[in-house]
Amino acid sequence: MRVGVPKEIKNHEYRVGLTPPSVAELVAAGHEVIVETQAGSGIDFDDVDYVGAGARIVGTAAEVFASSDMIVKVKEPQPSEIAMLEPRHLLFTYLHLAADKAQAEGLMASGATCIAYETVTSESRSLPLLKPMSEVAGRMSVQVGAHYLEKEQGGRGVLLGGVPGVAPARVAILGGGVSGVNAAQMAVGMRADVTIYDINNDRLAELDMFFSSQIKTAYASKAAIAAAVKNAHLVIGAVLVPGAAAPKLVTREMLKTMKRGSVLVDIAIDQGGCFETSHATTHDDPVYEVDGVIHYCVANMPGAVARTSAFALNNATLPYVLRLARLGAEGAMAADRHLANGLNVSQGKIRHRAVAEALDLSF
Ligand code: NAD
Repeated sequence: MRVGVPKEIKNHEYRVGLTPPSVAELVAAGHEVIVETQAGSGIDFDDVDYVGAGARIVGTAAEVFASSDMIVKVKEPQPSEIAMLEPRHLLFTYLHLAADKAQAEGLMASGATCIAYETVTSESRSLPLLKPMSEVAGRMSVQVGAHYLEKEQGGRGVLLGGVPGVAPARVAILGGGVSGVNAAQMAVGMRADVTIYDINNDRLAELDMFFSSQIKTAYASKAAIAAAVKNAHLVIGAVLVPGAAAPKLVTREMLKTMKRGSVLVDIAIDQGGCFETSHATTHDDPVYEVDGVIHYCVANMPGAVARTSAFALNNATLPYVLRLARLGAEGAMAADRHLANGLNVSQGKIRHRAVAEALDLSF
């Protein structure tokens, strides 16, 4: 199959659909890969790296679309990209269509087959192509939190791990899923005093086994969260209720009890955030203060570590890309119902029930 990789054009998006090592795997499997010039330049992949991996470099996105059967991207296609999609194309990327009717209608009009990373499922009922980004955001949340706890950043002037003779900072992690566990691993590594709160008792038991005495776990009752927030230096919001807005676990009233210079990192901001006082921020202007408490609510945290994120995303997507290239969309989805769950649009129709319902379109 001819596989195309255009340069991402969404603002501040430096990741790339296929890294040179992924290209080399596709080429070794007998496929042709066409890459737009400078597609990976934002994360230090030069055209020569792609040529070395066996790709053909072309000068424009239009040439990529014209000479490819499958387009592999990172972000949802922008209007100029949708205009280049044709019924013969297979598009494999993040789409997040449920909140984007204009894009959905554009993809329907294109006639292309569009498989969304975020709705591909797995046997363990997780979302394997979202997981790497939750891992990145979870690990990054502690690094960011530690930074904003510094005095010069407006923070309380507390070192996460303390020093001999001085107690470490208290870190409360709300939600013990993928991002919460990754946050806990980093916070434990920095020797902070870590507690994970969750409402899933089985999950709490798993975390207790996994971390042993390195962390504490607690049921996420309102009272427990209120007490945690009052005492914590860093609170990380990492909850997810699939398909729903994040529950507002930390109220404005609770915030008032926090120490000045404490830090909240709301990873769940892409689902509306789990602190009542959260609103989405960007990497250009990532924090704001409410009642003297620093809020970090960047909706695309992985973008800040785009090179790591691109490798992590490729590790997860490559097996699917290889299968789609080998079997074609129909064949690959027939062989794997979890990949088939990724199908969002084909032949002018929405093919994913939840997406259709969210958009009030027929399924
Ligand atoms: P996950 O499903 O792996 O974990 C969520 C956890 O939250 C589960 O253990 C669940 O039991 C728990 N939970 C649900 N309701 C709760 C409640 N009321 N109180 C306490 N715990 C509760 O989810 P994840 O992959 O870790 O993702 C978490 C959030 O981070 C999602 O909204 C995801 O979209 C988001 N995310 C954001 C970024 C970013 O850049 N900001 C990047 C990646 C993921």
